[in-house]
Amino acid sequence: MNTPALVGTARTAQEAREAFRLWLREHGLPVTGQRLAIAEVVIGSADHLSAEEVAQGLEAHGEKAGTATVYRTLDLLVKSGLVVERDFGEGFRRFEAARDVPHHEHLLCTECGAVQEFRDERLERMTTLIAEAHDFARQGHRLVIRGVCSACRRGTRPSDVRR
Ligand SMILES: [Zn+2]
Ligand SMILES: [Zn+2]
Repeated sequence: MNTPALVGTARTAQEAREAFRLWLREHGLPVTGQRLAIAEVVIGSADHLSAEEVAQGLEAHGEKAGTATVYRTLDLLVKSGLVVERDFGEGFRRFEAARDVPHHEHLLCTECGAVQEFRDERLERMTTLIAEAHDFARQGHRLVIRGVCSACRRGTRPSDVRR
């Protein structure tokens, strides 16, 4: 699971556990090993994970949790601000660690499901100009570019990389 050219850096797994532990305590919620392991999987990863992939990642950590627990914990992580939820129009949600650079865009490969990130100042300026032209008080925007990644087009994607 390696994603190149990420915007910002992911927290370490240990920091992830600690941050979520504190948040759960502050909110009077039970701190369980499963919850902390789920936080570690998502926040310690540089990927955009589906709930299914989080469950798989858990097993790699030697933990197991039912689907309901995984979803409930992911919702808590989103509430805590440690994790950001993404909907790329695939029919399921993905989750990524909140990082120091909050705003970036995504490229989604429709063949292998790989997600790449980018940030482009020209795009930021463009959305401001478009909003102004429509007398619109801009609050934000989200862009997902769908297509086929270079590895899939060349048929060079190693079979062991994601799905
Ligand atoms: Zn691809
Ligand atoms: Zn992202």
